[in-house]
Amino acid sequence: MSTGFVCHEKYMWHDTGSAGMFLPAVGHIQPFEHVESPESKRRIRNLMEVTTLIDNLVLIKPRKATHEEILRYHTADYITRLEAMSTERGGDAGMSTPFAAGGFDIALLSAGGVLAAAEAIVDGKVDNAYALVRPPGHHAEADIGKGFCLLANAVLAIKHVQITRGVGRVAVVDYDVHHGNGTEQAFYENSEVLTISIHQDNCFPPDSGAIQDVGRDRGEGYNINVPLPPGSGREAYRAVFERVVRPAVRAFTPDLIVVPSGFDAGGFDPLGRMMLSSQSYRDITAEMKNLAVELCGGRLLFTHEGGYAPVHVPFCANAVIEELCGLKPIAEDPFVDFLEGMGGHQLYPHQENIINEAAQLAANIEK
Ligand SMILES: [Zn+2]
Repeated sequence: MSTGFVCHEKYMWHDTGSAGMFLPAVGHIQPFEHVESPESKRRIRNLMEVTTLIDNLVLIKPRKATHEEILRYHTADYITRLEAMSTERGGDAGMSTPFAAGGFDIALLSAGGVLAAAEAIVDGKVDNAYALVRPPGHHAEADIGKGFCLLANAVLAIKHVQITRGVGRVAVVDYDVHHGNGTEQAFYENSEVLTISIHQDNCFPPDSGAIQDVGRDRGEGYNINVPLPPGSGREAYRAVFERVVRPAVRAFTPDLIVVPSGFDAGGFDPLGRMMLSSQSYRDITAEMKNLAVELCGGRLLFTHEGGYAPVHVPFCANAVIEELCGLKPIAEDPFVDFLEGMGGHQLYPHQENIINEAAQLAANIEK
């Protein structure tokens, strides 16, 4: 079993400027570092080096995605706007997606990094892979950037391997605390891509990710949203993976599984209100890996999305990558007992209601 890894120092040079969390530092907000900063990402890679986890990985060199590749999803008008802003002083790609001069080139390298990881998996050079890219991608829509995402990295990678390598069905399981709206939009009328998003109810984007949004036309039944109540912890997520993700993905029988990987469902995240520890992320990864081995020769691609607690995120990400490699825990997480000892990890009735509703959607997927 070999695990690929994509990262590049240029990802850390994507500059979101100063802000108050994610709002412009105007009025009474004293300027501070934007919440989507390089720090958590850089610390993931640093911890991998300190623990030597990185020595177990096959390093995959990222490349810039081409215009042809990004135009498979994004509109020409949107790309022209991004290029113009990037050539000048930067700007905002749409909704809460600031970038500095040259940011478009870094977004191309981010998307291209995920494409390269997908290629390596499908070409059999690695079994699975983690693409530690930045800027993230799962909120980017065809004609607008949202939620710090400029280009839809996972969408572009899926289309790429479907078009160039004859990959058929792809299952997406997005556990970022925010709704994977871009991925949903891209495949909403498509029965070849199953999109599952497990997120905090109505967190971001506003009014997005309802359980009633199940796909349209040929895609009807192939989009499952699991909008969990704030405060959900270990057992709520475990129930989602056992009752929704596992049966849905098994019924769908994908050729490849893609996981937009956000650590903002972690218990210390400033933007999410969930309870997960690194142990839950490790358990989720084991579940996804088992499904990939059972259904599609182990072909499993994780692509990095959110996670804004710089000290905690590296332990969650390292747990995921250790599990992908099949290694025993190396990076000892000093926060895990603290988080797991907190209240709120049981499965509560108000959580179970929504999970059971989503389980019905999973049961309707045709085998
Ligand atoms: Zn997020």
